[in-house]
Amino acid sequence: MIYLDYSATTPVNDEVLDSFNKACKNYVGNAHAIHRLGIEANQLIKEATNQITSLLNIKNNNVIYTSGATEANNLAIKGVCNYYQNRGRHIITTNLEHPSVKYPIDYLKEKGYQVSYVNLLSNGIVDIEHLKSLINNHTVLISICYVDSELGIKQPIEEIALFLKKYPKAIFHVDATQAIGKIKIDLSNIDLVSFSAHKFYGLKGIGCLISHKKIKLEPLFHGGNSINHYRSGTPSLPLIVSLSKALRLSLENKDSQYQLVKKLNNKLRQELVNFNDLVINSTDQSIPHILNISLLNIKASTLVNALSDNNIFISAKSACSSVDQPSVSLLALTKNSLIATSSVRISLSALTTNQEIKKFLKIFGNLYQVLNRKEKE
Ligand code: PMP
Repeated sequence: MIYLDYSATTPVNDEVLDSFNKACKNYVGNAHAIHRLGIEANQLIKEATNQITSLLNIKNNNVIYTSGATEANNLAIKGVCNYYQNRGRHIITTNLEHPSVKYPIDYLKEKGYQVSYVNLLSNGIVDIEHLKSLINNHTVLISICYVDSELGIKQPIEEIALFLKKYPKAIFHVDATQAIGKIKIDLSNIDLVSFSAHKFYGLKGIGCLISHKKIKLEPLFHGGNSINHYRSGTPSLPLIVSLSKALRLSLENKDSQYQLVKKLNNKLRQELVNFNDLVINSTDQSIPHILNISLLNIKASTLVNALSDNNIFISAKSACSSVDQPSVSLLALTKNSLIATSSVRISLSALTTNQEIKKFLKIFGNLYQVLNRKEKE
């Protein structure tokens, strides 16, 4: 098998799974019980949480454990807008956002919020001058991804965050799901950050919303108090412990892994430019882990399925969007509906080998000819 869909999800690291298993077996108590087992469980959660904040180099933040980035994004967006509804009803975002950001914002739009989309420059980064012109006294939330899941474009988040300090009433949310564990990130000056463990070799079912202590949120769930009142329910100690382990391991190896992935990405790009009617959509601002291409004569789903029959796995857009619909991100960037409907994403990791890339290119080349011929018949 050749797995090239690491941005959809990663396989769990053995050490992470081991931590999860040990925590399941050794800590049976509910972290909110007042007896010794509860106190021990609570203590371990505190240690894991301290490790997370120190790894991310943040202070004065609440760590809210969620089921993943989808919940973290929903809590950030709806939580801010519901809590601060009297402050203003204007949201600024981009057309590059994952459905778990886009759809909660669409939902708020239906409820009467005004939504502005920041223009993108030709390399896919947001036009900061345009962003500056969009902010007004009613802007309550600005939500911009660190790296988007389709094209892998890294946004100038540090610069935006610094500028937004002038607007303390406009809350800045960053979906960092595709960035954490892959690139150097700076979370200072960001109010809310979401991410998910399964993107960096952690387990599926656990994510985080890091929220600056000055920010208040209306919870999505109402129930018994938990680690904090933003997310009720018994905290999953084994998942929390496994998340902190996955984060530590991925950050330890980040720089060397980045260089490896960059080499693999260069190799792919060098070969793919030779194909006719193939457009490379990822730009020079994209992280090397994501390579988005469009095959103008072949439907995205046809290619993904043909590769899958050959035991090679890539994705048509992000796994969370419907397949043969035009991609909102690509439409915004290229204004070309053919490119936007025929895009596929190849996503790499440091587990990807040179041999896999060579084999992928060979099989891809053969399928490309066969499928192109079929389309023309
Ligand atoms: N945001 C981004 C940028 C993503 O890539 C994803 C996962 N595809 C999500 C949010 C949602 O993450 P989860 O699957 O953990 O809910």
